[in-house]
Amino acid sequence: MSQPTLKKDAFLAALTRQWQRFGLSSAQQMTRHQWWEAVSRALAEQLAAQPAPRNDARPLRHVNYISMEFLIGRLTANNLINLGWYDTVEQALAEQDVKLADLLEQETDPALGNGGLGRLAACFLDSMATVEQPATGYGLNYQYGLFRQSFSGGQQQEAPDNWQRESYPWFRHNAALAVDVGIGGKLEKQADGRELWRPAFTLRGEAWDLPVLGFRNGVTQPLRLWQATHRQPFDLGDFNDGKFLQAEKQGVEAARLTKVLYPNDNHQAGKRLRLMQQYFQCACSVADILRKHHQAGRRIEDLPKYEVIQLNDTHPTIAIPEMLRILLDEHQLDWDAAWAVTSNTFAYTNHTLMSEALECWDEKLVRSLLPRHFSIIKQINANFKKLVERHWPGDEAVWAKLAVHYDKQVRMANLCVVSGFAVNGVAQLHSDLVVKDLFPEYHRLWPNKFHNVTNGITPRRWLKQCNPALSGLIDQTLKVEWANDLDALKGLEKYADDAAFRQRYRQIKRDNKVALANYVHGVMGLTLNPDAIFDVQIKRLHEYKRQHLNLLHILSLYRQLRDNPNLDIVPRVFLFGAKAAPGYYLAKNIIYAINQAAEKINNDPLVRDRLKVAFIPDYRVSVAELMIPAADISEQISTAGKEASGTGNMKLALNGALTVGTLDGANVEIAEQVGEDNIFIFGNTVEQVKALLAQGYDPLSYRKKDKHLKAILDELASGAFSHGDKHAFDMMLHSLLEGGDPYLVLADFASYCQAQRRVDELYRNQDEWTRRTILNTARVGMFSSDRSIRDYQQRIWQAKR
Ligand SMILES: *Cc1c(COP(=O)(O)O)cnc(C)c1O
Repeated sequence: MSQPTLKKDAFLAALTRQWQRFGLSSAQQMTRHQWWEAVSRALAEQLAAQPAPRNDARPLRHVNYISMEFLIGRLTANNLINLGWYDTVEQALAEQDVKLADLLEQETDPALGNGGLGRLAACFLDSMATVEQPATGYGLNYQYGLFRQSFSGGQQQEAPDNWQRESYPWFRHNAALAVDVGIGGKLEKQADGRELWRPAFTLRGEAWDLPVLGFRNGVTQPLRLWQATHRQPFDLGDFNDGKFLQAEKQGVEAARLTKVLYPNDNHQAGKRLRLMQQYFQCACSVADILRKHHQAGRRIEDLPKYEVIQLNDTHPTIAIPEMLRILLDEHQLDWDAAWAVTSNTFAYTNHTLMSEALECWDEKLVRSLLPRHFSIIKQINANFKKLVERHWPGDEAVWAKLAVHYDKQVRMANLCVVSGFAVNGVAQLHSDLVVKDLFPEYHRLWPNKFHNVTNGITPRRWLKQCNPALSGLIDQTLKVEWANDLDALKGLEKYADDAAFRQRYRQIKRDNKVALANYVHGVMGLTLNPDAIFDVQIKRLHEYKRQHLNLLHILSLYRQLRDNPNLDIVPRVFLFGAKAAPGYYLAKNIIYAINQAAEKINNDPLVRDRLKVAFIPDYRVSVAELMIPAADISEQISTAGKEASGTGNMKLALNGALTVGTLDGANVEIAEQVGEDNIFIFGNTVEQVKALLAQGYDPLSYRKKDKHLKAILDELASGAFSHGDKHAFDMMLHSLLEGGDPYLVLADFASYCQAQRRVDELYRNQDEWTRRTILNTARVGMFSSDRSIRDYQQRIWQAKR
């Protein structure tokens, strides 16, 4: 397929219609935000007017990617780049004295996700369109995305993020696709023994589509986001019975369902409204998939020949019993036929091994909201029990682990493994641990069900869009299109030894650091030295990600400067970006500790600009796009075995930051790709972590051994960073000490500081530093999400079975 065309005249005419719609008499009367909206709407209109791409009828199963989160970020710039329309639009606007880049800053990020999992879903949609894998993304159209973060006295404050979905120009509402979804109610036994579900109430799901554009190939695929409303019009019977207000009340309740995104990352809260969201999304999506299948004139039994449903973590697991329910109750298939269709259609991606994130639902909750689904889950469980009994006769301990329904709980991960045809982890190490530690018995039953697909990132957003200067240099140097063929960056390797190239690469990094420093000055009033090392840790705030290990190292440097005021260290700016879930008090305490340390260090004249700490508020995709191109150091310091993959690590390495990291998640594969000389690996390995914990890990012994570490911890508890409040950081300190330090922060501290000293030393040799950063950019091509999608195709979606 080929690149779509934009006719400048048609675009300008569409733009005119937009300001006329605003009731203005000229384009010049528009506000900046109206300019963004008008340009975006005009583009969306031109996109819709493109001729439908010819149907190449490639024999590929269509992928339905269901995810509770799509952290898509701003779309206008991304769409312009993927369409190849950027330059034309930039010029057309320049003729009206409008700068496209300024206007793109007006877009509020659609923040319909928490972090890595949601961003992965967005990268995968981009790549599926680019590699021409037919796909639909299914999610929810939240009115409020992830909360907005600010700091007050160093403490995180949360505010609602009303991103104005009503006027978002890229949406297309497709009223014809609305789906009715029943919830609650009772089961009635029929004369023939079948169970009839009579839901207590019905919601309507409205389909709001965002276009997902392939890179200059003419492909547009939908991201279909469901929005809950009440059934339209109100039930006339109710109206006549004088129950109008009651009907209206149902409408208000219904609209509540897709109001907010749950702000938890890697943690399950078990809330009723959340399960309702999950079911609502799955019911709408399964109905949509089956509607299209029927419209294409295909037999229901053939569904798995044409469709795959990929579950992004267990959040959409309820789609499995929903599919069975429709096949059994509406299509009247018998159990074996319904099971064959379902179990050949679903595939599941595991994102975590941590028990607090593995979803379990109370059976009472499931039964009260979804009685028919609960009954189907019990049937799956009973059938599976027979299989387990054959392999492990009489072994209750094995059954207690493998059961889908046990101890009054429904376990979603088990339901996915038992009911799906494929299970994958998201980095090699993680996938190995899924088999070895999480699901060893399942692996014995079905060894061929388990796969690895290492995560990836889209190079369109995470290099071409966010780092135009470096992209330009790569274009000029390689003279090939690398944005959809990231392995082509290998061609840069030979320039690592070219002094002129190094100079240009280094200058681009410095310019990006200046741009970030300007942003930081604007939002925080803090002045940063662009010649310092920009040391960046950006990711959700979580104990396992160990932002507090980073803090301890900062405090170590601060102590050393005070002990030796003329200490020669390379100036460093420590930059953080992270939101903590509003109910995660320990994470919020770590944010507070970092902010308080920042205040003290940034204002201490003795430090003399050798250290600066900046916690940038409201970390989100658009802030990531600014921070990543400016980073010298990428902090990837999770406890080994805890980070499934990470994708921030990939974005930063691609943009020429050197990683300080543990052998965790995809860091292992990054180290293999870039070579051990070009990365700073430290800390206990997975095996060493296991051994430490097995022998009874004691954090207090590390404090006792290491006087410097003890002094740092004591100072945190002294009130020196908290205006005399000795208890300000109790929660964090308790977790590190008496709490047993579950993430082995103290055990990795010495090794981490040593790695940081190697960073300092290398940075003094700018030629060698730049050489290694160039090799990072050149060697991380495999972390393109295009490669991830091809792996999914070969190993799972299109694999011969
Ligand atoms: C990439 C990304 C993440 C994931 O970062 P990790 O370091 O892999 O946890 C989270 N949030 C945003 C906004 C991102 O762009």
